[in-house]
Amino acid sequence: MHNKVNNKIGVSVLGATGMVGQNFLRLLENHPWFKVVDVAASERSAGKLFKESVQNKWLIPTPIPEYVKNMRVRNVHNFENIPPDVTCVFSAMDLPEKKATREFEFNYATRGYAVISTSSANRQTGDVPMIIPEINPQHADIIPIQQKNRQLPNTGFVAVKPNCSIQSYIVVLEALKNAGFPVNRVQVTTLQALSGAGYKALTSPELKDNIVPFISGEEDKTEKEPLKIFGKIMGNGITPVDGLEINAVCTRVPVVDGHTAVVHLGFASKIPSVDEVKMILSSFRALPQELNLPTAPATPIIVKEDENRPQPQLDRDSENGMAVTVGRIAKDHFFDLRFVGLSHNTVRGAAGGAILTAELLVKKGYIA
Ligand code: NAP
Repeated sequence: MHNKVNNKIGVSVLGATGMVGQNFLRLLENHPWFKVVDVAASERSAGKLFKESVQNKWLIPTPIPEYVKNMRVRNVHNFENIPPDVTCVFSAMDLPEKKATREFEFNYATRGYAVISTSSANRQTGDVPMIIPEINPQHADIIPIQQKNRQLPNTGFVAVKPNCSIQSYIVVLEALKNAGFPVNRVQVTTLQALSGAGYKALTSPELKDNIVPFISGEEDKTEKEPLKIFGKIMGNGITPVDGLEINAVCTRVPVVDGHTAVVHLGFASKIPSVDEVKMILSSFRALPQELNLPTAPATPIIVKEDENRPQPQLDRDSENGMAVTVGRIAKDHFFDLRFVGLSHNTVRGAAGGAILTAELLVKKGYIA
């Protein structure tokens, strides 16, 4: 098990037929370190050639990559047929029950696979790191504790990436904190794209020409996940940070890709000027940039001066979909500051964010 393929790390994509899975396959096509050697999905797709399994549901603008067209889709629950050269598993699926998804991910880890998941199921599991590589790369160091807690082989673990809804503003909080301006109150309203609800949402008639002011479970995730990300490893798990309150309203809007967030901030002590904020955000760099990770955006936060930016159509693909674009930065009458943030939900908010996390874990030696 775990041989390299042409000097690259062999990976499997679970949920490969879905919205996020399709983006994994696109982004991994010419990846310098990873090579997709296995694709898996539900029993509906299992046994078909990949190109047949996505007939009528290949919904991203680029064509199906040649390399994957004739791969045979494996049932995600069939462990016997995992090719021997798989080391790392990108999981882009949810089973009907969260508990089943949690166990499912650890079923792979128990067999020695490094699992990087986009699902919410294990995000609040204490010994599972939820990583945004620009913010909390140090949380990777919970992995040996997780392996010990659960008696996993030393190649197996579960790491997750957070919800796509927080992606458009949380890195801004990190940049401001690092510059000496910690935030303690956030009021955020998200305008989330259709692709965030999976491939079925893109063709759903009730989401066309409409806004739905509710996304099940999303506000809770938007309010709680940043606290874990800013938290600390203590004992056997990660303890959420104190002193940050987030209040969220999450809506679904008829945009194909790209989550927008309208954000109001209150600062814990000093309040920066608008010009200082622009300078802090546009000069923000972090570990992925220092390490020059293949998927890292050179400029993680792009600041726009134009009053009508960011816009999903114009800005979601900046830095290959990995940058967060921020505009409308201004003083606020009720809070201290406000801005509008935008990020690509299936790239930075899902597949791209997970690949960047895997690259970090390779550099840290957790994926061999
Ligand atoms: P999706 O488009 O609905 O795709 C779901 C995938 O999971 C498909 O490959 C599907 O296979 C498979 N699947 C569904 N039910 C299954 C079952 N019972 N057993 C085995 N496989 C099953 O969903 P998505 O938007 O890609 O999201 C995937 C995961 O990423 C979810 O956990 C989601 O919450 C998370 N996420 C999504 C986004 C986003 O922007 N879309 C962002 C962050 C995180 P078949 O094609 O064979 O049915």
